[in-house]
Amino acid sequence: MVTLRIDDIGASAKWYEHRVRFHAVILGKTIRLPGVLNIGPLKTSRLWGGWAVYDELEPSEWEDIMAVLEKYGVKPLVAITACWVERDSRLIPFPERFPDEALWLKKRLQEGKIKIANHGLTHCVLGKHQPRFFGSNQRFWREFYPFLENSIHEEHVSRSQDILQQFFEEPVTVFVPPGNIWCQATYRALKRHGIRTVIAGRYMADSEEPMEDIEFVQDREMALNIHDRELKLHGASWLDETLRLSCQDKTPA
Ligand SMILES: [Zn+2]
Repeated sequence: MVTLRIDDIGASAKWYEHRVRFHAVILGKTIRLPGVLNIGPLKTSRLWGGWAVYDELEPSEWEDIMAVLEKYGVKPLVAITACWVERDSRLIPFPERFPDEALWLKKRLQEGKIKIANHGLTHCVLGKHQPRFFGSNQRFWREFYPFLENSIHEEHVSRSQDILQQFFEEPVTVFVPPGNIWCQATYRALKRHGIRTVIAGRYMADSEEPMEDIEFVQDREMALNIHDRELKLHGASWLDETLRLSCQDKTPA
């Protein structure tokens, strides 16, 4: 059985995290791209793999995605960022910003077809999240840095848990730190607010100490980690092909 995690649902990174990946595959060859492309609107061009701008998934797109998931018997972990961040740093809770999508996901959760994870309150460092003219702002599209005040970790974990649990009417016990960055202050807040599992590519940024009451799962142990970006840009047929290949890899020779 393939395990699938879908990140960035509800996150405004899809509008405001402007960066390019600095490589592209052209005629089967990986080409390194010049830094000059990391400027203004050039950054967001799909031609060279710009991250933004793309829109949130609509329920009709989720329907197509769910049909593929059911075909492969996959129950995804949907990692939701609890608030959309506006350009001026205003926060809009996910169920208000995307009511149709939120309701669609709630119904699928009640039917036992998906699982939900907390993917932060904002996904970003508030106030630093706007695109710059020169260069990438990816660094500030991580939320739980050790240099931030303890109170920020507490507020972001507590508020995101409140928003998600009140709307979905179920305990949220899994946390996926945006960009794999989290630390001791985050851990202490997670412990206070009912999180029992952290799934990430890295352990805490500032400690190797073992945790009490919370399990760490290295995300490479999960078969497949994707973002809503791939689903939005490439659609359900891309997911179908990706799951088909992933299932093949898992079939014993
Ligand atoms: Zn993310």
